[in-house]
Amino acid sequence: MATAVYPGSFDPVTRGHLDIIKRAAKINDRLIVAVLINSAKNPLFTVEERVALLRECCKDIPNVTVESFDGLTVEFAKKRHASVMVRGLRAVTDFENEIQLAQTNHALMPGIETMFLATSIKWSYLSSTIVKEAARYGSNISKFVTPNVEDGHPRQSGAAPGGRKDVLIPFIMQKGLRAF
Ligand code: ADP
Repeated sequence: MATAVYPGSFDPVTRGHLDIIKRAAKINDRLIVAVLINSAKNPLFTVEERVALLRECCKDIPNVTVESFDGLTVEFAKKRHASVMVRGLRAVTDFENEIQLAQTNHALMPGIETMFLATSIKWSYLSSTIVKEAARYGSNISKFVTPNVEDGHPRQSGAAPGGRKDVLIPFIMQKGLRAF
């Protein structure tokens, strides 16, 4: 039973991340999407918000779970008995950083292999940073993220019908303006 961990900041989760999640879930028995609690970065969404958004995005993929973690990714993977670490590769610029990370992780924990999935061409330009920049200037970000992320919060059951679109961009913009 191969368990894989897909770690990242997911601030916020994009359609590029979701593409990797769906593909990684097909080739591993179990996939844990792990949100890094990284106090060094200045995140737009809290860890709890990022986990909740991811959970909603992944609710229809039965072998995917989402949790947060602190500390070394390989230690987290070991605790969950994972043998695979999933990472997405977009461009050459990702490669340098990712290969170093994979080699460091292998040196620390030889039992865990990093699996790189090449991004689908459709999402090769997409990053959480781009989404935040676009939202900040009021652009339509529906191409980049799912509706719950556009909203900026997990969909509440019983929320006022038709109200979503009106609050959605301002919410993420508000957050963006506070963070920059
Ligand atoms: P980190 O801060 O660890 O880079 P991210 O949330 O930015 O966290 O990314 C997590 C992983 O997802 C990384 O391996 C990254 O390369 C990958 N990733 C991010 N965006 C995309 C995308 N559009 N297509 C494929 N992989 C992606």
